[in-house]
Amino acid sequence: MAEETLLPGAKVSVLLGLGSNLGGRREFIERAVRLIDEIEGVELKNLSSLVETEPVGGPPQGRYLNGAAELETALEPRDLLNRLQEVETELGRVRKVLNGPRNIDLDILLFGDLVIEAGDLVLPHPRMCERAFVLEPLNEIAPGRVHPVKRKSVEELLEELRSAVARVSATGETERPS
Ligand code: ADP
Ligand code: MG
Repeated sequence: MAEETLLPGAKVSVLLGLGSNLGGRREFIERAVRLIDEIEGVELKNLSSLVETEPVGGPPQGRYLNGAAELETALEPRDLLNRLQEVETELGRVRKVLNGPRNIDLDILLFGDLVIEAGDLVLPHPRMCERAFVLEPLNEIAPGRVHPVKRKSVEELLEELRSAVARVSATGETERPS
């Protein structure tokens, strides 16, 4: 699969989604952020506030805390994903049930303007535009950031999602704008 190659050493702005719904949720997220900042080749630039959200999909489970972070990195996308998975493991994440409860979930939402569709890494994150719990914290730190496929800013995507949700609750209609 063809992937855009990044200039060696060039720093790219990356936006992450952070989530936790088990145990000391705030503490897990704060520890994850500290560990991410310690990754060689990664610099933490910004962190949103953490919002409490209802779980979406998966088995019945507790409410989440969600946030977003902005990083700069010279790492390749897959190296960053591996480092983030190491942080998840270090914080004791065990992968059991798809969409099940987790003490920490670190997702790469946007990696510069890269578009990748591989089994183990999809960028931009495929479900970010449908999830208010992703777009709301993201909008706090990167409202003007443009989704490289949709060509809309985070602010516009959130606005669209909110009006789609409002329309569904007013009419029962289920279709969303493309
Ligand atoms: P989810 O975040 O969808 O609830 P997991 O955190 O268990 O589920 O991730 C499942 C897999 O998603 C990971 O093994 C990873 O390889 C893959 N994945 C694909 N794209 C991304 C991305 N943009 N960010 C993080 N993980 C991703
Ligand atoms: Mg994940």
